[in-house]
Amino acid sequence: MRPNSWRRYCPNRWATSGSGEHVGGAPPRRIGRRGVPGMIHFSQVYKRYPNGHEALKRVTFQVERHEMVFLTGHSGAGKSTLLKLITMVERPTRGQLIVNDQNLSRLPVRRIAHFRRKLGIVFQDHKLLADRTVFDNVGLPLVVAGVDHREVGRRVRAALDKVGLLRKEKLYPITLSGGEQQRVGIARAVVNRPALLLADEPTGNLDPGLADEIMRLFYEFNLHQVTVLVATHDPRHLTSATGRVLELRGGELVRSGEENRV
Ligand code: ADP
Repeated sequence: MRPNSWRRYCPNRWATSGSGEHVGGAPPRRIGRRGVPGMIHFSQVYKRYPNGHEALKRVTFQVERHEMVFLTGHSGAGKSTLLKLITMVERPTRGQLIVNDQNLSRLPVRRIAHFRRKLGIVFQDHKLLADRTVFDNVGLPLVVAGVDHREVGRRVRAALDKVGLLRKEKLYPITLSGGEQQRVGIARAVVNRPALLLADEPTGNLDPGLADEIMRLFYEFNLHQVTVLVATHDPRHLTSATGRVLELRGGELVRSGEENRV
């Protein structure tokens, strides 16, 4: 991309020198390999918490549509913070962030809920409601979005089918194993058919066999064109990973995995 086109995409952040050369780090690559805008685009992103702690420093990377990417780093490296910026739970202190064609710095607060509906989010502790059945837990995002109840039934069953829990829809989360509870959490995350699936240490509480099962599900969604970003500090998944690996250390991106793109 030529310097002038960078300016059109990122008018403030990407200064060019008088000679037209880009200054201040690697150029942003808004257009992906297939000629379409990437799914996640971070340009020189910083996050400082109110207590002064700088959790992310000068983070620049792009995730293309339909990529499978792992985000790794030691505890406290900034993985959750990075995911919270993508989901707009936190705002960056500086830098530009574009997710699914939405420039997040221009997104008004009243549009955040609508923006999040296009994301699927999986948490380590799955955050299921104990007093609701599996069906109701998975259907909740659709009910909140005002989807017609027959359509809710259809989509919830499709999501439960994908994670192999169709026969457990009437059960309560407490009666399920840890791996099954996490699969319910994944069904809830995909019930809206998101283009982007994010997961924060989704296998952190599971033993290795169950963790592998959960990881296989993420690979399957990725095979069906979903962009997947999984934060994990479990080296087992990274050594067997066929996706790209981004690594944070002390809030800085020390590996972007560009060399092993798949
Ligand atoms: P990771 O997910 O890699 O363990 P986090 O993103 O949770 O890392 O945290 C990165 C750093 O930011 C840590 O030092 C953490 O203590 C700090 N941090 C996270 N959330 C907050 C917050 N709300 N206020 C202040 N510091 C925070």
